[in-house]
Amino acid sequence: MSTLSYIQPTATSPWRTYLTQVDRVLPYLGELARWGETLKHPKRALIVDVPIELDDGNVAHFEGFRVQHNLSRGPGKGGVRFHQDVTLEEVMALAAWMSIKNAAVNLPYGGAKGGIRVDPATLSKKELERLTRRYTSEIGIIIGPQNDIPAPDLNTNPQIMAWMMDTYSMNTGVTATGVVTGKPIHLGGSLGRVKATGRGVFVTGREAARRIGLELDGARVAVQGFGNVGSAAAELFGQAGAKIVAIQDHTGTILNDQGMDLADLMPHVRAHGGASGFKGAEKIAGESFWDVKCDILIPAALEGQLTPERARRACAKMVLEGANGPTLPEADDILNERGILVVPDVICNAGGVTVSYFEWVQDFSSFFWTEDEINMRLDKIVVGALKRIWETADRHRITLRTAAFAVACERILTARAERGLYP
Ligand code: NAD
Repeated sequence: MSTLSYIQPTATSPWRTYLTQVDRVLPYLGELARWGETLKHPKRALIVDVPIELDDGNVAHFEGFRVQHNLSRGPGKGGVRFHQDVTLEEVMALAAWMSIKNAAVNLPYGGAKGGIRVDPATLSKKELERLTRRYTSEIGIIIGPQNDIPAPDLNTNPQIMAWMMDTYSMNTGVTATGVVTGKPIHLGGSLGRVKATGRGVFVTGREAARRIGLELDGARVAVQGFGNVGSAAAELFGQAGAKIVAIQDHTGTILNDQGMDLADLMPHVRAHGGASGFKGAEKIAGESFWDVKCDILIPAALEGQLTPERARRACAKMVLEGANGPTLPEADDILNERGILVVPDVICNAGGVTVSYFEWVQDFSSFFWTEDEINMRLDKIVVGALKRIWETADRHRITLRTAAFAVACERILTARAERGLYP
C-alpha cells in the first residue's frame, strides 16, 4: 500500500480498494512486479474550476476532474461522471480501473476518467449544457482523439457527449468526432453503444453461468441501479428466460417474487425517473434488497455497495459487477469463502468500452458497421477475454478478480518495461 500526499483515502474508499487489489496481484507478476509502483501512481490528475451562469443570473462554481492513470498502452479512455459525491480520489480509482479494464480486454488504450461534483438533477438543460461545455473547455488541454477519449458514465449520456464533441471541435477548429464516444448516431456514434455495457454484463454472466452449471431460464435476478447498465442487462436476462425479482435505484426498492414484467416497468421508469411506485411489484425497505433470494445479483449503481455485512447476507450464486468497484475487498473475501462467484467489474462491464473502441475506430475510418456486426464482435472479444481470465484463475487458484488484474497488469507493465523509463 503506498500513499499520495494529495488524497486521504479512508478504509472503504475506492482508491484504497484499488490499491488492495493491486497488492493482491503483485505476487503473480514475476519480474514485472518491479514496475508495480507505476500502478499506484496516476500519471496525471487535472483539477478544474467550472463556473457557470445559472438561469437566475447567479454564478455557481463546480469542481471538475480528469485523471489519466496510465498511458503506457495507448491514449486514455474512460467515462465522465456527474454526481454530487464525485471527488478527486474517486476519479483516480475509476481511472485506474479503466487502465486495468482496457488491458484485461486487450484494447489499445490506457485508463482515464473524469467527473464533476454536481447533482445534475438540480440544473436546467441549458445550465447542464453550459456546465458540460465549460468543463470540456477546461480539460481540453489534455483530451483529444489521440490523447484521451471521454465517454458516458453515471448521469451522462449521448447528448452530453454531443456537447463535449462540439465544444472540443469549436475550440480546435476541426470537427473531431473521435474525441468522445457514446455520441448520438448522427454525430459518429456507434450502433449498439447505448446498451453495450449491459450487454457485456449479460454476456459475461451467460458464460459464467454456463461454466458453473447455472441455468438462465428461470434464474432469479436482483439488480441495483436501473440506469443505462442495469436496465439493459435486466432486459437481456429477461429475454434469456430469467426472472427479474428485485430492483433498487435511487428512488426505492421493489420486489416481485414471480419476476417483473419489464415491458411495463421500462416505460414506468422513463416516465417517473425511477422504479419506485411501479404497480407490478411491492415496495420493500432499501436494506432488504441484500437479503433477496436470487441466483444472480447485479450491482449496477455505485462503488462500495457490497460491504462485508451485506456480503454475509447475500443469497446469490454469482455477483455480476455492472458498476465499477461495487465490492469492498473484505466483502470480496467473504463472497469467495461462501462460494459465491464474483465476475469482476473490469471484465463484467467492459462491453461499454469495447463498443466505445469500435466507435472510435469507425470514426477514424468514417465507415460504420451494422448493429449485428457490433454485437457479434463484442460477444467475441468479451468471451475471449473472460476465457483467458478464467484459465488464469484456474492455473493459480485465485479469484477471477485477481486473475483479471494479473492478465491486465502483465500487459500494462510489459508495455511499461518495453517503452522504458523516460528520459
Ligand atoms: P446511470 O446514471 O444511467 O444509472 C445509475 C443508476 O443507479 C440509476 O438507476 C440510479 O437510480 C441508480 N442509483 C444511483 N444512486 C443509487 C443509490 N444510492 N442506490 C441505489 N441505486 C442508485 O448510470 P450507468 O451508466 O448505468 O452507470 C452505473 C454504473 O455502471 C456506474 O458504476 C458506472 O461507473 C458503471 N459503468 C457504466 C458504463 C456505461 O457505459 N454507462 C460502463 C462501465 C461501467
